[in-house]
Amino acid sequence: MVNKQTSLLIVDDNIDNLRSLAAILRLEGYKVRKAISGQVALETVRSHPPDLILLDIKMPQMDGYTVCSILKEDTTTCSIPIIFLSALNETADKLKAFAVGGVDYITKPFQAPEVVARVENQLRLQRLSQQLVVQNAQLLEEIQIRQQTEVALHQAVEQAEAANRAKSVFLANMSHELRSPLTGILGYAQLLKKDTDCTSLQHKGLGVIYQCGSHLLTLINDILDLSKIEAQKLKLFPDYIDFYLFLNNLVELFKFKAQEKKLQFVYFKLTSLPPEIYIDEKRLRQVLINLLSNAIKFTCQGSVTLKVSVRSCSYESNEHKLISSKLTGKAKKIFANIRFEIEDTGIGIIPEKWENIFLPFEQVMERSHSPEGTGLGLTISQKILALMGSEIFLESCPNLGSKFWFDLDVYTPLSWADFNEIDDSQSQTLSQELGDESDQIINTLSPETEVVVPPLAELLLLYESAQMGDVQNVQQQILRLQQLNSDYLAFVTQVLELANDFDYQDILKLIDKYYGDNVSLLRL
Ligand code: ADP
Repeated sequence: MVNKQTSLLIVDDNIDNLRSLAAILRLEGYKVRKAISGQVALETVRSHPPDLILLDIKMPQMDGYTVCSILKEDTTTCSIPIIFLSALNETADKLKAFAVGGVDYITKPFQAPEVVARVENQLRLQRLSQQLVVQNAQLLEEIQIRQQTEVALHQAVEQAEAANRAKSVFLANMSHELRSPLTGILGYAQLLKKDTDCTSLQHKGLGVIYQCGSHLLTLINDILDLSKIEAQKLKLFPDYIDFYLFLNNLVELFKFKAQEKKLQFVYFKLTSLPPEIYIDEKRLRQVLINLLSNAIKFTCQGSVTLKVSVRSCSYESNEHKLISSKLTGKAKKIFANIRFEIEDTGIGIIPEKWENIFLPFEQVMERSHSPEGTGLGLTISQKILALMGSEIFLESCPNLGSKFWFDLDVYTPLSWADFNEIDDSQSQTLSQELGDESDQIINTLSPETEVVVPPLAELLLLYESAQMGDVQNVQQQILRLQQLNSDYLAFVTQVLELANDFDYQDILKLIDKYYGDNVSLLRL
């Protein structure tokens, strides 16, 4: 559709041509002006630039090529499209027309439809190119704004990081300074408590001083750790450690802590484990102690379970190739991917809080209702694990319990073959040492483990509890079956695995698997 404002200029020294062309284009709705010579055309264009020019080539005094060249050199008129008009039909003439800046060429005598089509076509192209220019300018402007914003952001981030580092350094120094007098306070509180001359009120008061002091010391230590991590001053000191002894000590410690709260503490060694691993023992212990302490702290009844397993092994190369039998014996060091899982049957955490609890000072409960704790343990653990190239994952169900787990890639100095031999003998010793304890299950599951299934009648209560999703009774039944006969260990282990993941439907399916149609007896 022709825009009524679109103006055209026709330049021709032949009056008849001017008239006929003007008539054709006015009929199409264009505003048409005429110029009888090149000189007149230049003046008209400068005073009122048209949207398009139809320009005759052969004119006296100043021909069309010259007019076109002059207009193209002028920045105010260079973008006006020019269509040449000529009786000349030589290729050289047309090429020259394009060379001086023309956009099209119409040969005389004119055919009205052709003239109209060519004019419309050039005007459309002109509009499109104008739109492109505008869009280009907008884009350039946006890019500039974005670049400026990015620079500003970068500067802001740098400033914030510098401020954060300064804060961390300050906190680290302060924490150091605070620790010394606090140790003095704690020491004297302990000493004075031993003084038999103290009245019972003074004794109680000293107890409170000691308790508050201890809490403050934990807080200061946590802040010191966090500040060191944030100031990038926390370094790992890995070394080869006796993995069995490490786990054994941890199990002993938490068995005792669980007993104090009348909880069952369960330790599962789900696969063979390397006897030695290369790790920062202090920091790994710190993470596990934090997760296990939380599990005990937030569980009032039931159990806390620690599971450790090797998920995959590879040679030292970064490719993490799985060990295959044909490669055995060659490697001096292997990479083991070890999973640590800590599960409890405690209060659980609502999904909306899963991310928050890894932030500093975040506690699900109001601080006043929360058992002792600083709200820094998970933050520190997550950051330590990040330094070790790992992270903590969490699954939890309010009122049923929580499961925290992380995977670690660690070196073990032995070839796969040696590793398995030693592991078998050592794991037996460990199981013997700890396996007699009635409140604890130590087990190594392997695919070949023979499963001895308790008689159907013994499974009645377990089946019912699983059907009702009764977490406490399921746990009790598992414990009962375990104590009933040690041969049921493999079966009990399977059930406990499912129970810890709250997969009660799968417990029913497991029993279905062993008893098939007879299960209907249980359903009666
Ligand atoms: P703290 O235990 O000192 O409060 P953490 O950073 O270790 O600090 O834990 C943060 C919060 O996450 C806890 O206060 C608690 O609300 C929640 N939490 C952590 N572990 C558990 C768990 N096993 N069961 C329920 N809640 C937990």
